[in-house]
Amino acid sequence: MKSRVKGIGYRAQSKKTVISFLLICILLLSACTKQEKVFKKDLTAMDTFITITVVSDSSERAEAAIDAAFDEIKRLELLINYYSPDSELSAINRAAGKSSVKVSDDTLEMLQMALDISDRTGGAFNPAIGSVIKLWDFSRQAEEHAVPSKESINKVVTLIDYRKVKIDDKKSEVFLQEEGMELDLGGIAKGYAADKAVEAIKSKGIKAALVAIAGDIKGYGIRPDGEAWRVGVQNPRQNDKDDELLTSLYLNDEAISTSGDYFRFFTKEGKRYHHIIDPRTGYPAESNVISVSVIASEGYVSDGISTGVFVLGTEEGIELLESMGIEGILVDSEMKVFLTNGLKGKLEMN
Ligand code: AMP
Ligand code: MG
Repeated sequence: MKSRVKGIGYRAQSKKTVISFLLICILLLSACTKQEKVFKKDLTAMDTFITITVVSDSSERAEAAIDAAFDEIKRLELLINYYSPDSELSAINRAAGKSSVKVSDDTLEMLQMALDISDRTGGAFNPAIGSVIKLWDFSRQAEEHAVPSKESINKVVTLIDYRKVKIDDKKSEVFLQEEGMELDLGGIAKGYAADKAVEAIKSKGIKAALVAIAGDIKGYGIRPDGEAWRVGVQNPRQNDKDDELLTSLYLNDEAISTSGDYFRFFTKEGKRYHHIIDPRTGYPAESNVISVSVIASEGYVSDGISTGVFVLGTEEGIELLESMGIEGILVDSEMKVFLTNGLKGKLEMN
């Protein structure tokens, strides 16, 4: 009797199992017919190359997400473009020492984040560096470059105190307390834009994407092959070999930013003058670091901190990264690699 009941029970259960199995098959089949693919588009904005990659089962949805991300990047560029007289950043700079300027939530947020990074790096990252950057003008063609005179640098280096950038949160206003002061958000804008572009892509229902704005890359989700996004860290001295990588790593819902002396520079009398300025001197940082890659959950952090760590150098830089609990890969001028503890033994170096 007991076994019959058991038997009936078993048959009923087996019927249920078959139905569930069929249901799973149908679901799997419908999932298989809508296969996920990787869609990729290259674009130009923020004076650099941008590659947006998304995973989707529909080319229309992928395209809509890529467009939304690109629109977001262009929208942010209009707000903080140092070289455009129409940007909010230029309005703030023109009003330095005179009046405060009302700005959008994004500009305000970016500035707040930038000032926070300045505090964390002890001023090595400094968004008020604009007047010095203007003198060096790395936007020019390499052959037009000249080293600014010591007098001109000494004059403007007094105008870069980031504590004189005053933000009125409630009124959404920004005021630079001294005439001649200028903001430059070039050291954080790309990472911030990558964060916002990823948000735009997510809002379109995309489950995995990678946004690369030059050396600032943010990725989330899993590719159709089941892997996370793998990104390469460029060898800062490529020795004529194109695309030679120092190492590569997986991005798991995080961002990586690289600051290097090879992105924008010119050479005069055998000396390399690059675009990352030491706010203490007004000259390109001579910290003996040539490349800094920082991995953090937010792009604005990886971007701002990588610029700051470049100025700080290997010892102070690694110390700062460890204290913040974020990872980094630093390379000095002898090509010696310095890693934070969390990366030791986990990377294959070329
Ligand atoms: P990144 O490539 O992110 O390291 O940023 C470099 C850019 O940030 C430069 O082209 C300048 O516009 C700006 N910049 C240079 N030096 C600094 C600094 N010490 N702090 C903040 N921004 C800087
Ligand atoms: Mg940066």
